[in-house]
Amino acid sequence: TKLTEEWLQNYVDDWVSFYHRQTEEGEVASYIPILKEADKNHLGISIISKNGINIHSGNVDIPFTIQSISKVFMFIVACMERGIPYVLDRVDVEPTGEAFNSIMHLEMRQVKKPFNPLVNAGAITVTSMLYGDTSDQKLEALFQLFERMLGFRPKLNKDVYESESETSVRNRAIGYYLVELGFLESELELTLETYFKQCSIEIATRDLAQMGMILANDGEDPKTGLEIIPRQVARLAKALMLTCGMYEASGKFAAYVGIPAKSGVSGGIVAVAPPRIREDDLPFLEGCGIGVYGPALDKQGNSVAGIRLLRHIAKQWDLSIF
Ligand code: GLU
Repeated sequence: TKLTEEWLQNYVDDWVSFYHRQTEEGEVASYIPILKEADKNHLGISIISKNGINIHSGNVDIPFTIQSISKVFMFIVACMERGIPYVLDRVDVEPTGEAFNSIMHLEMRQVKKPFNPLVNAGAITVTSMLYGDTSDQKLEALFQLFERMLGFRPKLNKDVYESESETSVRNRAIGYYLVELGFLESELELTLETYFKQCSIEIATRDLAQMGMILANDGEDPKTGLEIIPRQVARLAKALMLTCGMYEASGKFAAYVGIPAKSGVSGGIVAVAPPRIREDDLPFLEGCGIGVYGPALDKQGNSVAGIRLLRHIAKQWDLSIF
């Protein structure tokens, strides 16, 4: 049966209202003071498919900061600037099982490089690899990538940047370990400033869905056929998202949802449903990106209602890549 966009929209609306009621269970991140101001009852989802289906449901117009989701795109930019071998010589691609801002592994003397680009130690190392003498120069390539994916240049949320920068003791501690180990390619203060800024870029669910859709399409813009991200780099990014993207719940997310995804502490999740070829395919199974926003987080730092909603949709629409 051929399902219409309207049917899909109604379906998603129903489930967003259902999971809306479960936002009470989580807590909004508070370690960056300004993030506390988010409304924990918000929940929104955008789905954009390769063939142009657009579904937006719930609180989709609330801007929020990209936070850790930026780590995926900084990694992509570093690979594009420096080449994959250069980057992977300096940061590994193994999950840690530790918290995103853990210092533990850095204290083990035999460590040769940070575990992966999606935990802070690896992400800060990746940020240090970008060309530029100022944070704005370093960020330029990231903004250009966003602009090519989204069709506009997202803005920096200065208040979040300042709040984060002022309360960054743990990231500074990580930074000093990285300096001691000789992992950083640029000066510490410059690197941290760039990292805090990249986390403070403001987006909304539709932007995450659009980015996810480009990744689902292996880095190519389906409208123009232009390569935005080299295929090899897009695949690496998705592998990292699947194994390391959802903090210490990455294994469970792979098991229960089964698609590459990355979350951030402000409650955003970008998920990527790659193309599937099957007789009874739903139209969006040609590949789609999903963007979720739900600032009430579980203990691992993932959106409570967001994860449940994704899990439900992935099950109903059989999105798992396995
Ligand atoms: N700005 C955050 C930090 O490094 C990013 C955390 C996250 O989204 O996981 O503390």
